[in-house]
Amino acid sequence: MPEPASQVAPPASPTLSASQLATLAEIGEERVADVGEVLYRVGDRSYPFIAIIAGEVAIRDAAGNEIVRHGAASFIGELNLLSGQTVFVTAIVTERLRYVAVERDVLRALLFEDGPLSDLVLSVFIARREALQRVQGVGIEIVGPRSSPATMQMLEYARGNRLPFAWRDPERADDTAAAALVAGLDATSLPLVRLPGGVELHGPSTGEVSRALGIGRELAPREEVDLLVVGAGPAGLGAAVYGASEGLDTLVIDSTALGGQAGSSRRIENYLGFPAGITGTELTTRAVTQARKFGARLATPYRAVSLTPGDARHVVRLEEGNEVAARAVVLASGAQYRRLPVEALADYEGTSIFYAAGPPEAQLCGAERVGVVGGGNSAGQAAVWLARGGALVTLLHRRADLRETMSDYLVRELERYGVAVRDRSEIGALHGADGRLDAVTLRSGERLHLSFLFLFLGALPCTDWLDDTVGRDDHGFVLTGPPAGAERLLETTLPGVFAAGDVRSDSTKRCATAVGEGAMAVQLVHARLAAAAR
Ligand SMILES: Cc1cc2nc3c(=O)[nH]c(=O)nc-3n(C[C@H](O)[C@H](O)[C@H](O)COP(=O)(O)OP(=O)(O)OC[C@H]3O[C@@H](n4cnc5c(N)ncnc54)[C@H](O)[C@@H]3O)c2cc1C
Repeated sequence: MPEPASQVAPPASPTLSASQLATLAEIGEERVADVGEVLYRVGDRSYPFIAIIAGEVAIRDAAGNEIVRHGAASFIGELNLLSGQTVFVTAIVTERLRYVAVERDVLRALLFEDGPLSDLVLSVFIARREALQRVQGVGIEIVGPRSSPATMQMLEYARGNRLPFAWRDPERADDTAAAALVAGLDATSLPLVRLPGGVELHGPSTGEVSRALGIGRELAPREEVDLLVVGAGPAGLGAAVYGASEGLDTLVIDSTALGGQAGSSRRIENYLGFPAGITGTELTTRAVTQARKFGARLATPYRAVSLTPGDARHVVRLEEGNEVAARAVVLASGAQYRRLPVEALADYEGTSIFYAAGPPEAQLCGAERVGVVGGGNSAGQAAVWLARGGALVTLLHRRADLRETMSDYLVRELERYGVAVRDRSEIGALHGADGRLDAVTLRSGERLHLSFLFLFLGALPCTDWLDDTVGRDDHGFVLTGPPAGAERLLETTLPGVFAAGDVRSDSTKRCATAVGEGAMAVQLVHARLAAAAR
């Protein structure tokens, strides 16, 4: 639940060095503003980067509540300044201001060149976006019931894009105002989406909301490119950076948000080069900036719905009617871990709810009450691992007998390490606050005190849209290399179409391997294009 503006501790005000201010002054314009002057307001289409030389600025929400103040040598702005989204807050001068204004495109070019400034600006923008996501009344308002699939899709879109948003469910007894807002609207008009600045959209697609917010580029009805990358997770972004930097005209599309599953990870501990770990948001924001630096075009939300093989070019059709003709295609549409259909799941993911149990999680869960959900061997292994680490583990699964789905030796191990097994158990609700889980309620009505949950409900590849155009394994993952009878590693049964990352059959489901495969796919694309040109 977002907090009122006054209760959210904003990130500490950053300080620019004298030389950074001088650099910004060279490429920007020095301006002054008097007390009370509004530098930008909620709903504006854009605003410049503002580096404060002297004076003070207050940042307020749409209702006028103050969120934070910034003074001399600090700067104002947040992630939307880079992505071009509609402005979520108002900036008003509270002490006569002398400042440098740098237009967005000029700032972006500078960030590509100036490492220390880029590090400072990106980390502050990301921290501010996380803080804004916790402030009540900032961002978009989504009004629609849980029973409306379009509403749930819009919520997933907002979460995936890390937009500050508030969800108002008209079926909740304590929000009669929400019920009044959507009274009389039919299902096709849901959800009602209210944008910063007051514009209301009835039953918009995620693409319409994106474009209304100014996010992302709009594609032409037909695009022709050297390389189309489907999916902007680590594998797709890896392919984008290497493709674009090596001279291929590269387009990346994603149906939801740039960053993929990795973008939703609170902390990736095993990514090479970041010994202290890195948040998924930071890793993927950096990757997106890097891909853009090399000239890759990134477009969201565009969902690929079909692939038609061709001689010189394959054609991928998108849900909104556009088509992309590409000399080579990298499939990087990943997999979706099955999630629990319960309210507020995302609030706990990465802090109390996990999809993998490794050493850090075992350490975190020592002497804690932990639930492992799932009846397969992966759930059994995780339960044993966590119990051996000292956690008090309960394994919850839906069937009458665990032996229907789990190997006998694991069932014995569960007994040996004191794992409590609950048959015919499904979780219906989560309870807790600030990402910390306290308890769950089972569909039977029973309440269990659990501090952590591990979900092993299987991963589904995002490959339905491919039909039979490329070979897939029994679980739907894309076959590549020798098992596909393909000439090249990572190439699918369709020459010129490659697969990288989680979408690939037998891949290691990790960020680093996904990035590596994306990069490697580009080498193989070069080889394929060279062979085709001979
Ligand atoms: C909560 C969480 C925490 C994790 N933590 C770690 C960790 O600490 N360390 C680690 O190594 N790994 C971790 N992982 C796993 C890691 O994130 C994945 O292995 C990695 O993201 C796979 O990258 P990918 O690019 O192959 O696919 P994805 O990240 O799944 O990206 C695929 C993208 O394709 C898009 N897409 C799907 N279908 C279509 C379509 N039809 N058209 C267009 N776009 C489409 C999706 O929207 C998505 O953005 C974690 C995963 C999760 C969910």
